[in-house]
Amino acid sequence: MYEKERLEMVERLERTGFVTNRQVLDAMSKVPRHEFLPRQLWPLAYVDNALPIGSGQTISAPHMVGYMLEVLDLHPGQKVLEIGTGSGYHAGLVAELVYPGGQVISLERIPELGDQARKTLERLGYGDLVRVMIADGTEGLLQEAPFDRILVTAGGPGVPPPLKDQLGEGGILVIPVGGRTYQQLTVIKRDGDKFEERALGLVTFVPLIGQHGHKTN
Ligand code: SAM
Repeated sequence: MYEKERLEMVERLERTGFVTNRQVLDAMSKVPRHEFLPRQLWPLAYVDNALPIGSGQTISAPHMVGYMLEVLDLHPGQKVLEIGTGSGYHAGLVAELVYPGGQVISLERIPELGDQARKTLERLGYGDLVRVMIADGTEGLLQEAPFDRILVTAGGPGVPPPLKDQLGEGGILVIPVGGRTYQQLTVIKRDGDKFEERALGLVTFVPLIGQHGHKTN
């Protein structure tokens, strides 16, 4: 279902230069974005927009999802932590890119969203690759660290220190950092005790709320 629309979306992302990595484009051709949305929004699933998923949250626009995946430089076998499961779509794409041998742990603070995302991922066959947990992702997940990659899909006032600590050697962390209206998409690469930080451009994400994030909605 919607295969033609999905392939056209991917073709547009490639043509406009937002996504150039072949593996990312292939994963986006495969994962059915509409399945992660409320049914009434299925006809809009392959338009390049963020869309509401309930509880005041959104699924990010496909160009942003693809761009973040590209920056993360994912490979089979990697262990990835995602903060902000939302619909589960981004986690499904990460699963495609770290398969075989990899694993994805995705943390969501809103139980209804996490539970729904877990069901969707299981229904689509990603249940063994993606573990969804309800938790404050700004604390990371110490018992599963270190992570090869960390992906934060909500905007925080700064980089939560636990996430830097839990990033493995040579690891990459992508996070929107800034105010509530817009943030700077930031990539951090770990080299021993050094963290090389680079700003990639302004973006707009829902707030990262928690101990090391914004304090309220
Ligand atoms: N990656 C998602 C997808 O593919 O649908 C989109 C995520 S949405 C833009 C951001 C999500 O981050 C929301 O579901 C929100 O509840 C969640 N969030 C915000 N603060 C969080 C925190 N401290 N820990 C875990 N999840 C958090």
